Amino acid sequence: MTFQAAAWRKHFPLLANHPRLHYLDNAATGQLCEAAFDAVTHHELTHRANVLRGTYRLAELADSAYENARQQVAKYLNAASDAEVVFTAGTTASINLVAHAFGEGLKAGDEVLLSLAEHHSNFVPWQMLRERRGVTLRILPLTTEGRLDLARLGDFITPRCRLVAVTHASNVTGAITDLVPVVAAARAVGARVLLDGAQAVQHGPVDVAALGADFYAFSGHKAFGPSGVGVLWGKAEALAALPPFLGGGGMIGRVGAEQTTYALPPRRFEAGTPPIAQAIGLGAALDWLREQPWTALNAHTARLAQRLIDGLAVLPGLTFIGPRDMRERLPIVAFDLPGIHPHDICQVLDERGVAVRGGHHCAQPLMDFFGVQGAVRASIAPYNDEADIDALLEGMRDVIRRLT
Ligand code: PMP
Repeated sequence: MTFQAAAWRKHFPLLANHPRLHYLDNAATGQLCEAAFDAVTHHELTHRANVLRGTYRLAELADSAYENARQQVAKYLNAASDAEVVFTAGTTASINLVAHAFGEGLKAGDEVLLSLAEHHSNFVPWQMLRERRGVTLRILPLTTEGRLDLARLGDFITPRCRLVAVTHASNVTGAITDLVPVVAAARAVGARVLLDGAQAVQHGPVDVAALGADFYAFSGHKAFGPSGVGVLWGKAEALAALPPFLGGGGMIGRVGAEQTTYALPPRRFEAGTPPIAQAIGLGAALDWLREQPWTALNAHTARLAQRLIDGLAVLPGLTFIGPRDMRERLPIVAFDLPGIHPHDICQVLDERGVAVRGGHHCAQPLMDFFGVQGAVRASIAPYNDEADIDALLEGMRDVIRRLT
């Protein structure tokens, strides 16, 4: 085990409880870091109260912890202001928020551009919007490796395009989207840009200012924080232009029996009691992550991914899903063994303590593109080490011996 992986592991209490577990399903959920765990416990033990409602001291402590979490998120994203950070239930909730609030202003004939590599949570809300508003969905095709085919952007972004909603990085192939041409093409026709950051946030701080998007969505549980919480970051003017999505307490200016005015963002989009402890845990996780040596950590996970790719490449009959080299991609490795169901592979691997995901990964259009029903996916975090990769490779040799 390298120094960094060993040191990192110590910050993840669950891993100490499962010393023989090879956890390689980090793209589904990252393990909870100690900083988040401690922040949630501290909150629950010392200042649990509802937020933005009470005037007694305990409630004020809860308010300031919740708003502090918003600032911690803003720092991780290099947001211009913490008012640009909306707490939601997760990536899915964030995308649905935009699909409703931004979608409200769209009409038949307006276009939304997606890509074929999207997670279902960046397909279905737009298909539902098409049902409601009659918008046209255009789907950017992929290169043979599964990257967005940017050479074809010009054919797909038309003057009727109002929104480009694409993944920052694929949860199946790990491919990182080259956003510069995407944002430029969207800007050229006056379209907004929404990025699905569910996968990217786990691999280091994100600079929303540099990315140039209007909206950025992610989930706490993938960023080594709690589940049940996520973020929609929006540029101040982009959020200010949106009507609310959910109505209820906390998102109002003044409610009359007949008419209501709404709060300014971000509260306009936080109806009801938010996931308070979870947001505080997420803030603490991101605050801790922000200080980590990402160049070294990413070099470590890229090395492990390459070791896995090289090891799999010499096994007979295996098909890779996605790019084989580590350029512009996350340490997520997906593959298929034709004729063997991914769940059967996962079962054999699980017997050896190797936790990987098998199935369609909520990306069926991408599976269709690759001509497979599903795939096995190993996704690597900095606490993983060579032993995890070698256990998976040994398990795959066993799979091939037993199932083919
Ligand atoms: N987008 C991507 C790229 C994802 O990987 C995921 C989670 N697998 C989601 C969206 C949805 O995230 P959540 O289920 O946390 O809302």
